[in-house]
Order: sequence, then structure tokens, then C-alpha cells
Amino acid sequence: MRVVPVFDDIDTGGFFRAAADGQLAVRRCASCETVLHMPVGYCRNCGSFEGHWSPVVPQGRIYSYTVVTHQVHPDFPVPYTVLLIELDDVPEVRLVGRLEGRQDVRIGQRVVADFIPIADDAAFPTWRLQEVDGGGTER
Ligand SMILES: [Zn+2]
Repeated sequence: MRVVPVFDDIDTGGFFRAAADGQLAVRRCASCETVLHMPVGYCRNCGSFEGHWSPVVPQGRIYSYTVVTHQVHPDFPVPYTVLLIELDDVPEVRLVGRLEGRQDVRIGQRVVADFIPIADDAAFPTWRLQEVDGGGTER
């Protein structure tokens, strides 16, 4: 059975609809714009039950990581690295992401997301290490 995202879930649907369009999105309160991550049904700041999904730049820094070596699903061959990413646009958000394989990873390293199609109308964000050239310029 292939893993595909669900688009009509109130807590995660917007994330995967944005990913299908090649964007990374976080849920925000419609009243006060507080970021609601992990996505929840109400705003802890103002109490509103209205939210929306807002695109953010799919870049950040590795806050933590672990390498997975025990395969739990055929769609996710091991080894792979699970990242906890501090997003540049919303550093208060620590997003869980996936990095292919077992790579030379360190805390604080920059990462960027690509959106890998997994079906006709669905994609998963997959992270990669952001290369830094000799002059320190990120590309
Ligand atoms: Zn609010």
C-alpha cells in the first residue's frame, strides 16, 4: 500500500495541498496570525477557531536529527534521516522532515526542501543539505 497524503484533514490537509503546489506552509490563526504548530483547531493566543495555511520559504537549520535504520514501510527504505528543522521564516516552528540516506549531518546545518511528486496530484517535501561554496555564499 502506497503512502499518500489526505487533503481533507483540517490539521494536515493544507500542508499537503501546499506541498502538491511546491510550497511549504504553516497553519496560522486567521484573527491574530499566531503560528499554530503543531496544527491545532484553535488559537492558544486569542481563542479563535479560524485558521489558514500560509506559505513560508522552505529553508531552515537542523535543530536535531536521528538516522532511521529499521524499515517500517516499503515506501521509506532505510537508512534515512529524520530532521527537526527550525524554519527561517518562523523559527518558533520546528518541523519534522526527511533527508534521504545517512548523510554527514550536523546541528545548525542549513537545509532546503524539494517537493517530490508521489502521485499525480500529491508531493512530499524532502529535505536536502544546502551547499555552501568556498566563499561562504549559500546557493
Ligand atoms: Zn489568534
